Amino acid sequence: MNNIIFQKVFSKDFTDYFKKSNFGCKYAIITDSNVKKLYGEKLKKQLRNARIDAEIFSFPNGERNKTIKTAELIIEQLLKKNFHRDDCVIALGGGVVGDIAGFVASIYMRGMGLIQIPTTLLAMVDSSIGGKTGVDNFYGKNLIGTFYQPKNIYIDIDFLKILPEKEIKNGIAEIIKYGVIKSPKILKLLIKYAKYNHKKSDNDSKKSNKILLKIIKSCIKIKKSIITKDEKENHIRKILNYGHTFGHIIEKLSEYKISHGEGISTGMVLINKIAVNKKFLSKKHAEKILNVIKLFKLTYILPENINANEIVNLLQYDKKISCGKNVYILPNRIGKVVQTTKITKNDILKACGN
Ligand code: ADP
Ligand code: ZN
Repeated sequence: MNNIIFQKVFSKDFTDYFKKSNFGCKYAIITDSNVKKLYGEKLKKQLRNARIDAEIFSFPNGERNKTIKTAELIIEQLLKKNFHRDDCVIALGGGVVGDIAGFVASIYMRGMGLIQIPTTLLAMVDSSIGGKTGVDNFYGKNLIGTFYQPKNIYIDIDFLKILPEKEIKNGIAEIIKYGVIKSPKILKLLIKYAKYNHKKSDNDSKKSNKILLKIIKSCIKIKKSIITKDEKENHIRKILNYGHTFGHIIEKLSEYKISHGEGISTGMVLINKIAVNKKFLSKKHAEKILNVIKLFKLTYILPENINANEIVNLLQYDKKISCGKNVYILPNRIGKVVQTTKITKNDILKACGN
């Protein structure tokens, strides 16, 4: 299972530990165009100053570029620069970078070393942990990919300092997911975090950072414990897909104009409506979840140009289909969800308001 290390990346401690650990002969820092400018060059310099051989490989930022074509271009560059399987990839960036760099590391010469350094909140709490890699294609998100565990994952919340608010919101949506599937406490902490996060004073911002770190640690703990039980998503790992079946479809139908966070906040509200309609979730708990979603100004209403029938139609491409049936994660109360295949087209259309 993953080794998760809470450490400042731009520090002597990091380089010292990194050098001692000797993850590979040389390092390929794979990142996107934004993160390259913000942190990539700096990391390369830091490693090189410590006589660690490192090169940067980047691609244009954005989910749109998370394709097999981009992976192929990176692989060609790695070949040109003579990288081998005993070398190591450092995935430096958000979820997009983590997915694509992890995918490249897993197939390059049948697999090279991998280190994840997540730089977005979403990647810290979710995508960098658990060894999922992948790229998107015409039919949907992450339909091509592998399970491939990184050697180490470094969590450094300093990366969040200048992360745009909309990216923070993406991570918050994923954190709400953890709260609903396993921990009412996480939702309470989120409410507390929102209270201090108006950045009015240094003291408040210190407090909010402290709460955020606590939240990140709780989410990682949940994810780690789930993955330890079910690495390849045969049973319990599926609960991490709460809100995601509809979320991914909404993202795809919006041509990725709707972010992952807003896709899953809408997806969570939609599945909650189904759960309430089926009298499986109380209105009170659904309301509590909705209030946290609203507190962070996340979307929860289906955009008008997305048709409920189109959603139903795309369900056939869901990765979570098991023996021809979609598996849904239905909340029973905050902190408890179940898996079910017993949701009909009519249930979905009704919850969409049709
Ligand atoms: P996610 O992590 O939500 O899957 P991305 O990997 O696409 O999403 O990252 C979202 C955007 O934020 C990208 O444009 C990326 O370049 C940028 N980004 C990533 N990390 C940081 C950071 N620490 N500070 C500022 N921008 C960042
Ligand atoms: Zn997600």
